[in-house]
Amino acid sequence: MELNKQSDWVARSLRSVWHPCTQMQHHETIPLIPVSRGKGAWLYDHEGRRYLDAISSWWVNLFGHANPRINAALKDQLDTLEHAMLAGFTHEPVIELSEKLSALTGHVLGHSFYASDGASAVEIALKMSFHSWRNNGHADKQEFVCLKGSYHGETIGALAVTDVALFKDAYGPLLRASQTVMSPDARQAADGETAQDVARRAAADVERLFTERADKIAAIIIEPLVQCATGMAMHDPLYLQLVRALCDKHNVHLILDEIAVGCGRTGTFFACEQAAVWPDFLCLSKGISGGYLPLSLVMTRDKIYQAFYSNDVTRGFLHSHSYTGNPLACRAALATLHIFEEDDVLNTNKIKAARLTAALQPLAQHEQVRNFRQRGMIWAFDAIDAPADFSRRFFASATEHELLMRPIGSTVYMMPPYILSDEEIDGLAANTLAVFNQVMAG
Ligand SMILES: *Cc1c(COP(=O)(O)O)cnc(C)c1O
Repeated sequence: MELNKQSDWVARSLRSVWHPCTQMQHHETIPLIPVSRGKGAWLYDHEGRRYLDAISSWWVNLFGHANPRINAALKDQLDTLEHAMLAGFTHEPVIELSEKLSALTGHVLGHSFYASDGASAVEIALKMSFHSWRNNGHADKQEFVCLKGSYHGETIGALAVTDVALFKDAYGPLLRASQTVMSPDARQAADGETAQDVARRAAADVERLFTERADKIAAIIIEPLVQCATGMAMHDPLYLQLVRALCDKHNVHLILDEIAVGCGRTGTFFACEQAAVWPDFLCLSKGISGGYLPLSLVMTRDKIYQAFYSNDVTRGFLHSHSYTGNPLACRAALATLHIFEEDDVLNTNKIKAARLTAALQPLAQHEQVRNFRQRGMIWAFDAIDAPADFSRRFFASATEHELLMRPIGSTVYMMPPYILSDEEIDGLAANTLAVFNQVMAG
């Protein structure tokens, strides 16, 4: 049988698939790329062209496509148990995963509640926070606080604590109001101010709000260290310490959304380890399954768990998703955690990160670049006077340079899988520079 041509796949997809986060009409001019297979850091199309997946396929893929170790674990799991409901039943992969994750927090966050997508984990954390206050006699703690530029997902509850106008504005009338406080984004440093000074200013904003109305506030939700979707806005770990102390003082829950920044992305397994604080709720998704299957979870403290533990069914957390704790997804997560141990990934990444940072110096020093920044396995910089349509033009030019990259506005970023070879690292840096120069030249 003759293989379909690349253009046939594009035409068929555009007729029947409604693509996410996309103005579909833009595909009249922007390429849509049908992927035929993936291997390591590379995706291949139907015409034999390849693309280095420099953004880990929307920040999920940690150890490459078609990873032999994850594949083997999944094949084994497939022949053992593909799925069983998690109410009334349990199974080995979900137990082992919960135990391993608990151990990674020194058993501070010893209870894991499962869902499928990141936004669902955020919904769960919000609901659990409110419900636990209610069970403890504080039913008027109903408000949530988020940061300027925050992103926590696209469902109605998660969007209510998101502050990205492009995603939120159209749905404003549907959303519950939330309180928005200053972002600790270090780029706001005034002359002579350090990132820590900005963190202190941002924490003072939280303190003002808590002092005024903490009795109405259930939780503050924060993406620790890097606010990703708003454009890789990075802040000093001090901010998390100051907010943790304010939460303790004013009886407000701290929800840390580590959906993007967890799983080693910022250099430690959990981003909050760099501030030596634990939240009351920690949301994980994206990288936890190695980028293989939809899996998300909320980890919480025994104190929260106990607030629901009762002989009264309505005091329980009556939330569920059909695929809660799916064994295949949990098994992929276990294989992913195993690779972290076996390959000493957090340390190996330090060496890879140093090499890529060095290779990116021509961009860091570029006269049309400002705010070059890096934390762990995240790099970003902002284009000065970027042309209109910078992001889409960059994406198109990148595909011609064997790269998959999608800037956020005029912010170019990289979040590569943790498996790049030296050659791939150097190629990524050189091609990014070439693409940037081409796009800035118009
Ligand atoms: C991606 C993301 C989400 C939403 O996860 P989905 O799986 O896309 O629903 C929430 N919070 C953060 C910080 C994210 O990066």
